Amino acid sequence: MRATVMFGAGDVRIENVPDARLIEPTDALVVVTRAAVCGSDLWPYKKMETSPSGRRMGHEFIGIVEAVGSEVRKIKRGDLVVAPFAWSDGTCEFCQAGLHTSCLHGGFWGGTELDGGQGEAVRVPQADGTLVVLPTGKDHALMPGLLTLADVMSTGHHAALAAKVGPGKITAVVGDGAVGLCGLIAARRLGAEQVILLGRHPERIALGKAFGATDIVSERGEEAIQHFRELTKGLGAHSVLECVGQGEAMTTAINLARAGGAVGRVGVPQETDMPASQTAFYKNVTIAGGPAPARAYIEELMPDVLEGRIEPGRVFDYVASLDRVPDGYRAMNDRKALKMLIEF
Ligand SMILES: [Zn+2]
Repeated sequence: MRATVMFGAGDVRIENVPDARLIEPTDALVVVTRAAVCGSDLWPYKKMETSPSGRRMGHEFIGIVEAVGSEVRKIKRGDLVVAPFAWSDGTCEFCQAGLHTSCLHGGFWGGTELDGGQGEAVRVPQADGTLVVLPTGKDHALMPGLLTLADVMSTGHHAALAAKVGPGKITAVVGDGAVGLCGLIAARRLGAEQVILLGRHPERIALGKAFGATDIVSERGEEAIQHFRELTKGLGAHSVLECVGQGEAMTTAINLARAGGAVGRVGVPQETDMPASQTAFYKNVTIAGGPAPARAYIEELMPDVLEGRIEPGRVFDYVASLDRVPDGYRAMNDRKALKMLIEF
């Protein structure tokens, strides 16, 4: 079968790889119908050291179940399913607590051992715990929105929850990528009336406004801080969604938070140290977040997508076949595309 393999920074190729197949009795074999490229795929795209064997890519996919192992009970051949960006058993102590990304028997797609979502088929471990059956046909018009439940929409929702978004809370979003924009959707969905998006890219700002941003801060440096102060009566935001992962973004997020506020961080940290520690301390800012347990949120968010109350599928602005994945990475890395949807 064909799949996306990254061999080093800037080097993504579509390669012939061994066919995905059932190995464990709890596995399902899924033939992929839609997949996506994630902003977090761009971190290795920028920095990965050269590897002769490469690394399989992709953690957002929808597909049709081709076969199931002997111990799979709920998922059946022929089901159309969405996979969250981590697989999990659904039964351990952490899964029961809704923290599926810490599953005792779970893990993440791709790498050197497992199939990635950006390929023709995937072996899905812990199929009953991991997969969610979609109540639609495989080419339903809302497929892009349903695909965002695998990661970006669920991750944005996680950021909003971690930042304690709620009615009457001023919310700020750091990061105008797909996760930041989905975080904006989530903040509005959870009742935030004022949502301030930090960004400069005209198309992303337009989408942010369509998703419910009430204010945009596009300035840089001191001017940005001044504008933000005016918008928050000099007090800062109650809730800040950090959707980038670089130390600079985290510093900004902590600076934007008001005393007693909360930062929900979902950008994968690119540094080992937490910046602005003293600022966070003296303001009593809560810092929460981490890899979103997307599996815990898919069923809750799905009706909003199916009934059109939220439109996270609009983040996809680059739709193409598997062959074009290397171009998609390049376009996203150059910020010419927001997010790629792969059609099989
Ligand atoms: Zn578990």
